[in-house]
Amino acid sequence: MPLPPMKRVLLKLSGEVLMGNQQFGIDPAFVAQLAEEVKAAKDTGLEICLVIGGGNIFRGMAGAAAGMDRAQADYMGMLATVMNALAMQNALEQIGVQTRVQSAIQMDAVCEPVIRRRAERHLEKGRVVIFAAGVGAPYFTTDSGAALRAAEMRCDALLKGTSVDGVYDSDPKRNASANRFDTVTYDRVLADNLQVMDASAVALCRDNAIPIVVFSIREQGNLARVLRGDGVQTIVQGS
Ligand code: UDP
Repeated sequence: MPLPPMKRVLLKLSGEVLMGNQQFGIDPAFVAQLAEEVKAAKDTGLEICLVIGGGNIFRGMAGAAAGMDRAQADYMGMLATVMNALAMQNALEQIGVQTRVQSAIQMDAVCEPVIRRRAERHLEKGRVVIFAAGVGAPYFTTDSGAALRAAEMRCDALLKGTSVDGVYDSDPKRNASANRFDTVTYDRVLADNLQVMDASAVALCRDNAIPIVVFSIREQGNLARVLRGDGVQTIVQGS
């Protein structure tokens, strides 16, 4: 299934992919490899917005499960996404890609606040814009942040780079006979509670007709393969 023509994309990376083979935190060597993937995608002429999760450092739900106040824990999770954004900014700039980080939680000493029109200018100038801190509010995830930024930046697709190569009808890690969809509708994802992104993110993409392309970012060169149309992925779309 070919991807729709794309000029501007939002690439969402789960925080856990920044761990590489570690159990926690950031593996700078693996982040450098991811940065090369982003550079290769950018070199094809695409404008790139990036959103990175924080699950490699802290998840609000985990804090809440351990007795913390959920909102407080979620703010910690949002701060984790800022650390990941700065790590990716460093890796990209070390290979000559100009970037700006915009955070939904204002942090003037380290990055810009989210200002849509300024982000537009950055993209026009060939910079990668990394959006941090999700939507800036607790009880959300960076998936919702990614869908929100994809909508407001009018991205042609939301590319979700994760550790599985698409969307399955059941968990492929537990069920060896799970089947991967080439394409699946937003409504089926929501009705069957398929593990793509949280429901608010999927609904926002559906309402704004933004295709979600789910693929594995763990194998080197995979983002480029997906963009060329010869990769393995699932496209979540309207019909
Ligand atoms: N988070 C939040 N609001 C947002 C985005 C993130 O509260 O808009 C918090 C939430 O606690 C979440 C954590 O930040 O668990 C890290 O983000 P996420 O779990 O989405 O990261 P990923 O799974 O993509 O690594």
